[in-house]
Amino acid sequence: MSAQLRLYNTATREVADFKPLVANKVGIYLCGATVQAAPHIGHIRSGLNFDILRRWLTATGYDVTFIRNVTDIDDKILHKAVHEEIPWWAVAAKYERAFSDAYKALNVLPPTYEPRATGHMTQMVELMQRLIDNGSAYAPGNGDVYLEVRKLKSYLTLSNQKLDDLQSAEDADLTYKKDPRDFALWKAAKPGDPSWPTPWGAGRPGWHLECSAMAHAYLGESFDVHGGGLDLIFPHHENEIAQSQSAGWSFANIWMHNAWVTASGEKMSKSLGNSLQVHEILKKVRGIELRWYLGGAHYRSMLEFSFDALEESSVNFRRIEGFLKRATDLLGATPEGIISAGFTEAMNEDLAVPTALAVISEILKSGNTALAANDLDEVKRAASEIRGALSILGCDPFDPIFATDSSSSAETLDGLISLALEQRQAARARKDFAASDAIRDQLAALGVVIEDTASGTRWSIS
Ligand SMILES: [Zn+2]
Repeated sequence: MSAQLRLYNTATREVADFKPLVANKVGIYLCGATVQAAPHIGHIRSGLNFDILRRWLTATGYDVTFIRNVTDIDDKILHKAVHEEIPWWAVAAKYERAFSDAYKALNVLPPTYEPRATGHMTQMVELMQRLIDNGSAYAPGNGDVYLEVRKLKSYLTLSNQKLDDLQSAEDADLTYKKDPRDFALWKAAKPGDPSWPTPWGAGRPGWHLECSAMAHAYLGESFDVHGGGLDLIFPHHENEIAQSQSAGWSFANIWMHNAWVTASGEKMSKSLGNSLQVHEILKKVRGIELRWYLGGAHYRSMLEFSFDALEESSVNFRRIEGFLKRATDLLGATPEGIISAGFTEAMNEDLAVPTALAVISEILKSGNTALAANDLDEVKRAASEIRGALSILGCDPFDPIFATDSSSSAETLDGLISLALEQRQAARARKDFAASDAIRDQLAALGVVIEDTASGTRWSIS
């Protein structure tokens, strides 16, 4: 059994033992959403994958500081503001709320801190000043500020590219840039756009600058893990590294990237329409089921979305839930979650969730056998190990977070069937067998099968 967590590091392209910079503590920075539209499942996968990492680290004894930023000023937000005829900040607030709702529905824990870009202009100006003072950046006088990429030897090592191979943008304007590949830390204000003052003129930050400044503000000059989607490796993460290392900070120790959700083999995009927005899918399945499906693939594997696969996954999840419910009824108490050796081994190997799911499946099999044999000790062990595993995956049906989502309909169902069974019991007690049989038959017609056992009446949905 592997007692040591091992993680894949994009920077070294290998899986290696995880060693925190400070004993028992972990700092994680995850690039969060640009809040310009309601999230679809492709937007939410990153938050969900890194939530599993965070839960696993916490469960294994680490004190985790988890930062996920909000990019609340951006070209896309400004375009949306024009389109929706509301102020840019109202667009940002509206979609930030939509993201928060989606994260909550999927039981993605709130980050320790969730900084907004617009709340950290001072830190961004300080970082630019530092970079200009040490000769890494320049302000050519047009209100922009650029980083001089040629000065940083390690530039492009994350994405394994060479600077000389990097195509410069065709429209690169060399009136102000020293090199076409230099990138903007800060962009001069255009008339009518929101802007913030700096010693080099009013304007707004480039996206990359935000993350370097906020990661530094909350996690310091160096921290353990920086995460994001695969598509952020270049240019976003390369440019974050360039800014932070040019400032003299060692920055992230490990880089982790989640793969995309694809539809028909393509990266999911807005052009697929609104049907894959989280709040639309939640009309079809419960949050816990959508999470079970999205979190079930390995974080580094592409997840090809289909409603058929989602349905199949939900049915599988309901089987596990059904076992936990029957076990709870039999034991007369909710099982405490415990982490099994098999689950630990899977999670420690670069968060191998598919292997962990196979472990859960085996435990479920032996749990169901034990249930049939009325082997209480074995039922308890299986139920506890399953609950422990589900809680790390964020899919614990007993988690109160799910009591308020659409699973409350499951509770209502539970209550209604219990009521019918009480009425049936009462009819039998007064020897009105016609009434008790009628209740059983009506339940059967609705697909509810009841079974009288020595320990009481059990029910299941056929
Ligand atoms: Zn970022």
